[in-house]
Amino acid sequence: MTAERPLPEITDQNRPFWESARAGRLTLQRCRNCGRWRYPPARHCYWCLSDEAEWAPVSGRGTVYSFVVFHQAFHPAFKDQVPYNVAVVELVEGPRLVSNIVGCRNDEVYVGMPVEAVYEPVTDEITLIKFRPVEVWERADAVVD
Ligand SMILES: [Zn+2]
Repeated sequence: MTAERPLPEITDQNRPFWESARAGRLTLQRCRNCGRWRYPPARHCYWCLSDEAEWAPVSGRGTVYSFVVFHQAFHPAFKDQVPYNVAVVELVEGPRLVSNIVGCRNDEVYVGMPVEAVYEPVTDEITLIKFRPVEVWERADAVVD
């Protein structure tokens, strides 16, 4: 028996995030009052508590903030994927996303590694956002204010 892979649940709150991922873009919620990014999506701003928000594209560039390599599958759907990494990626815009680093070996991942988003369609509705390594010079171009 093959276990079904657990997938994110789409809600009214996070729907724009998943719709843009499906279109190959990374879009985050931003507070209309104070301008700060709001991730994960929420009804109220974490800083100023405003409920005014908009969805805006981000660069998809960032660096590995932290990561682990799983050698044991804690869910049967992942038993064929061990060892695999789970990383916290800090976007150049600031928010941190939990994801996987793809396109390199687990022992090549390091804290501070420059990465960019790639889009992995899993179902008609869900496209997962993963990250792959990029050269350092590309990262310098990606820094936005
Ligand atoms: Zn705010």
